[in-house]
Amino acid sequence: MSSYYIWTIGCQMNKADSADLAARLDDLGFIPAETVDEADVVVVNSCVVRQSAENRVLAKLDSLARPKRLRPEMTIALMGCMVGPEADELMRRFPHVDAFVSPGRASELVEIASRRPVDRIVVHEAPSRPPCAYVTVIEGCDNFCSYCIVPYRRGRERSREMKEVLLQLEELVAGGVREVTLLGQNVNSYGHDLPGGPDLADLLGEVNAVSGLERIRFLTSHPKDMSDRLIQAVGSLSKVCEVVSLPVQAGDDDVLRAMGRGYTSRFYRELVERMRDEIPGVALSTDVVVGFPGETDEQYRRTLDLLSGVRFDSLHIAAYSPRPGTAAAETLEDSVPLSVKKARLREAEELQRGIAAEINGRLLGHSVEVLVEGEKQGKWHGRTRTGKLVFFRQDADCLGQLVDVRITKTSPWSLQGDVSRHRHEG
Ligand code: SAM
Ligand code: SF4
Repeated sequence: MSSYYIWTIGCQMNKADSADLAARLDDLGFIPAETVDEADVVVVNSCVVRQSAENRVLAKLDSLARPKRLRPEMTIALMGCMVGPEADELMRRFPHVDAFVSPGRASELVEIASRRPVDRIVVHEAPSRPPCAYVTVIEGCDNFCSYCIVPYRRGRERSREMKEVLLQLEELVAGGVREVTLLGQNVNSYGHDLPGGPDLADLLGEVNAVSGLERIRFLTSHPKDMSDRLIQAVGSLSKVCEVVSLPVQAGDDDVLRAMGRGYTSRFYRELVERMRDEIPGVALSTDVVVGFPGETDEQYRRTLDLLSGVRFDSLHIAAYSPRPGTAAAETLEDSVPLSVKKARLREAEELQRGIAAEINGRLLGHSVEVLVEGEKQGKWHGRTRTGKLVFFRQDADCLGQLVDVRITKTSPWSLQGDVSRHRHEG
């Protein structure tokens, strides 16, 4: 029986691609291996959004040279954003890698893996799958923010037909999935390239009608594409969770312009106000880049002002990392010293820690609905509709169930509590 091992780094879309590949290999009769040494097919699903991620991928690829020498019959494949249109350099640098598969071409990888002899076709019972699934609804990105390599690696925006998405969802729900996250680098531009031009609001309406599904999320949303129609859909559709991931990237208008984001700080703040009016209790998360070329201390302080003004539930901060081929890397000097980038990053993280502690602290003593995703070291965990991680103890198996948990302890990153009620069986 052939086995596979998938190593993944990067965004939710990479994780979704890996999960998809694993499911397809499972269907072919492959079994997952615990380690590289036990695997016949090893897949590295790569990310090059920042230099630090790229370095980890390179180290992983280097570490596979020895196992390949010892077992030349194993197949090693590299997929994801490291594989650009030109793979010659990668082929020279990693002679032990057999296949280079660009993002979105995972089906070809399934094809390559399936050429291996598989001893037996195994018909197995449906494995107990996690209750949450990620489904990519739009690939690629048309935005070309000046710092970002994604459009060069993932190509232009391509939406999946609504029918196809709904079919996949029905299959997932039949397999036990109760929560879905619809994915796209720019998910709220969904549909503009499809006949009839449906939008994300239309898709959410259809997905909301899938019976057996309890919760719907979507990410990542670009502020310039956050239409009133979409905001209203999120506010009114019962299964669509009141949580939006809305990367702002910077608080200063000149930096935003140099980043090519297509909005101002004021536009963003007003958008947040509209969303808070239309979507009661909405939780917001954002991404910020500090140390963009030429970012002055004053400009950086405007990002801090925006963070303290908006008060996000969660924040992901990155230090600017020049990506070869992007407009910023080619035309602007990476002028902010690393030590300054790191200090800005720490300061913004510290500010956010206080904000998140206060927001989460308000939940103390309240009951929240949690969809149970798993168990670790005697504690169950799951998320609220707003995406907050909750831990609680309980003897009986409650995987995939919706439970009400009364919060007894909070921190900036997670909550703890006691089960007060089981809603219904998963
Ligand atoms: N499409 C989303 C958006 O509009 O923000 C996010 C996609 S991007 C792959 C994920 C995050 O990585 C971005 O939000 C940004 O904060 C960060 N990022 C992208 N390029 C970067 C770079 N060159 N240096 C540092 N961070 C970067
Ligand atoms: Fe990158 Fe900008 Fe596209 Fe997000 S919207 S993937 S940051 S180019």
